[in-house]
Amino acid sequence: MIQAFRYELDPTRPEEECLRRHAGVARFAYNWALERCRKTGTTIPAVALHREWNRWKRTNAPWWEEVSKCAPQEAFRNLASAWARHRHGLARPPRFHRRGVRDSFRLTGSLSVGDRCVRLPRIGEVRTKESTEKFRGRILSATVRREADRWFVSLSVDRERPDPVPVVGPGVGVDLGLSSFAVFSDGGRLESPKALASDLRRLRHRSRLHSRKELGSASRARSARSLARLHYRIRCRRRDFLHKATTELARTKSAVVVEDLAVKNLVRNRHLSRAISDAGWSEFRRMWEYKTVGHGSRLVVAPRNFASSKTCSACGNVKETLSLAERVYRCEACGAEMDRDLNAARNLASLVAGSSPETVNAGGADVRPVLADGQTVGKPESVLISMYGRTASAASS
Ligand SMILES: [Zn+2]
Repeated sequence: MIQAFRYELDPTRPEEECLRRHAGVARFAYNWALERCRKTGTTIPAVALHREWNRWKRTNAPWWEEVSKCAPQEAFRNLASAWARHRHGLARPPRFHRRGVRDSFRLTGSLSVGDRCVRLPRIGEVRTKESTEKFRGRILSATVRREADRWFVSLSVDRERPDPVPVVGPGVGVDLGLSSFAVFSDGGRLESPKALASDLRRLRHRSRLHSRKELGSASRARSARSLARLHYRIRCRRRDFLHKATTELARTKSAVVVEDLAVKNLVRNRHLSRAISDAGWSEFRRMWEYKTVGHGSRLVVAPRNFASSKTCSACGNVKETLSLAERVYRCEACGAEMDRDLNAARNLASLVAGSSPETVNAGGADVRPVLADGQTVGKPESVLISMYGRTASAASS
């Protein structure tokens, strides 16, 4: 399975200079390619872009020989997948990368991890702030990222791991709610942390102050640095929150059912748009996917046309309309009354009801991964993560 190891780097001045240069070239190449795509009105494949880039570079920027060729190459790949996500309706079209915003680049090739250090092509050995003792596996790629004034490397590794023991217990439906961050079909709720909310308030305030500072002044530079640190802290808190939320469910529930959020209008939800969409729904989804697999649970994504909000979870009656203002679901057919989000969560949970490990296995479940673009056709039970099916059959034999 693919796993990531993330370390904070402790680069020397010249090393940091080199990291900055790589990030700069990656950003430039991305924007260069995006401009080309916009001009021609087509999405040019990464390979073609790289070929063109090499020609362009020879005449326009030969000094970039010192930067690993991976940096622009991977930037083109990123652009290609950004277009793909857009085509599938999962994201807005790619935009130009701004200097200093999310500086990052990805490298492949001869990468290795030593004692408290990481070896990167062209850059060399860079010390890490943390111990690398627990590192295992074969490195596929390294993404280097600057956050505020720190540098991090995230190593994607291919790693053999024993199949997890499937979680025994009920499945749970999760509705990313309107009033709470998430509502579970068993009645539980998850609120986004207060600390995060107060940080966001502070961020709004400080951004306002920042925008009033005179361009080019020392105080503006100072406030930019402090703003970047605040952004960094918010990212850490958000990530921490998402990690805790996803781990807990993956460890204790046999299945986690979520809505296909590509179709959910994220902006309508204040909590979501703050706490999630900034970080990207894909990040949340990615966490669910690898954690459910890693813990012997499974992630089920409801089909796009599944009416989780309008259906009555008690009798199955489907409402014609349901306005956002209706916080309580009232069924005209059976008279049931319950919280709107809870109703939706219960409907999601019903997608896995009765599919305990035995029945899934006995039925010879159609085991296949959730498609990257989130499109899932057919009965929802068939949308399983592959690991689960294997584990179930191994356990029963
Ligand atoms: Zn009803």
